[in-house]
Amino acid sequence: LGRRINAAVSNLNREPNLDEKAFESMVKEICSALLSADVNVRLVKNMRKSIQSAVNFKDLPPHTSSNTKKRLIQQAVFDHLVQLVDPHAEPYKPKKGRSNVIMFVGLQGAGKTTTCTKLARHYAQRGFKACLVCADTFRAGAYDQLKQNATKAKIPYYGSLTQTDPAVVAAEGVARFKKEKFEIIIVDTSGRHRQEADLFAEMVQVQNAIKPDQTIMVLDGTIGQAAEAQSAAFKQTADFGAIIITKTDGGAAGGGAISAVAATHTPIIFLGTGEHMMDLERFAPKPFISKLLGYGDMTGLIEQIQTITRESAGMKETQKHLAEGIFTLRDMKEQIQNIMKLGPVSKLGAMIPGLGNMMQGMSDEDGNEKLKRMIYIFDSMTAKELDSDGKVLVSQPTRLTRIACGSGTSVRDVEEVLTQHRVMSGLAKNMGAQRKNMQRAQSMM
Ligand code: GDP
Ligand code: MG
Repeated sequence: LGRRINAAVSNLNREPNLDEKAFESMVKEICSALLSADVNVRLVKNMRKSIQSAVNFKDLPPHTSSNTKKRLIQQAVFDHLVQLVDPHAEPYKPKKGRSNVIMFVGLQGAGKTTTCTKLARHYAQRGFKACLVCADTFRAGAYDQLKQNATKAKIPYYGSLTQTDPAVVAAEGVARFKKEKFEIIIVDTSGRHRQEADLFAEMVQVQNAIKPDQTIMVLDGTIGQAAEAQSAAFKQTADFGAIIITKTDGGAAGGGAISAVAATHTPIIFLGTGEHMMDLERFAPKPFISKLLGYGDMTGLIEQIQTITRESAGMKETQKHLAEGIFTLRDMKEQIQNIMKLGPVSKLGAMIPGLGNMMQGMSDEDGNEKLKRMIYIFDSMTAKELDSDGKVLVSQPTRLTRIACGSGTSVRDVEEVLTQHRVMSGLAKNMGAQRKNMQRAQSMM
């Protein structure tokens, strides 16, 4: 999805005279990308209208530049998609010093048992006394699975091999952990029954028995079009206050997440990004859409740079530059080199703005190869070029050819690097400006 939307927008970037026709065809392409990613038809229609009214060419001053128009369109697409995944509802915030009971609901295989351990660990790491209760008495082995995960994460747990009534086990577990002054009590439930009606009835029974402070629906991010009906059905019965989308590491997501929020007006709070305990990411609409559009997640990238590459001298310079809103070609080279050290490329590539889409669907090997070629390109630049913002190279055939030959790549490859650099540099400038604004605001307080 991200790749197609991004392609539609960058095709527009190549359009020298941006007119209404080019705009229309871009909107059409974005909409068809959303449709093919299983976003609901009605939502896509609304989006089309909203973008068309946000960017009304006839109302713009006659001398508006193509660049301004492009920025308007990009902003309109971004804003609209952000609106779609942002229900403007505040999820429940667990409080310390009291018990917070959290119940998980969702279909079998959605990732509930995996995710409840991830969440318990998340809170435990933030100083909460967290524990798990297994109220899945339906599936043989459910308790064992939770036990194994919980033991690995060093999280206390409760369950029963003999009690068959999930509401009873849930109530027992919650009562016991409340007495022991646990602050986060997460209750895992079953997701399958012979009849769907039975599943929903059981959900209500458990809910009544433990009166959770928060119910979270766990939704498989790979189910596409089914996300809307499924989340709506659960919402009707179990009125959950938050959603966690799992399996977003498979390259799917997007459509399902957007549909689920739209169908339930309920915020997504976390994304499951893998099978391991650490693979849980906080969800925020803007970075999510930014990543979806291939702009990358600058915050994630910066955190990564700060935590893992402190010792590298080059990175210090880059960090200083980022703080000032400067982003040279050399900064980009340093970043790519560090990302390559960190590996696996397929996961980390998604964090580099402008590279995320290029890396999507690539094997680690291909991704590494691609990044290596980019380093060869940087290595064929002069020091002066590297320390520039790249403008000295744009439309300079002799220079571009020299770099392409020196690096054993093509002019097209070099241009691609420059394009990606521009995206990253735009983000870096924005961040620098934001930081300055924040500092100013803080100094006034
Ligand atoms: P439950 O039936 O809802 O409790 O689902 P489980 O927690 O047992 O998970 C079902 C399968 O999905 C397991 O094989 C998990 O390892 C896998 N899984 C869960 N979350 C994720 C995720 O975020 N990414 C990936 N790749 N797999 C996941
Ligand atoms: Mg389970």
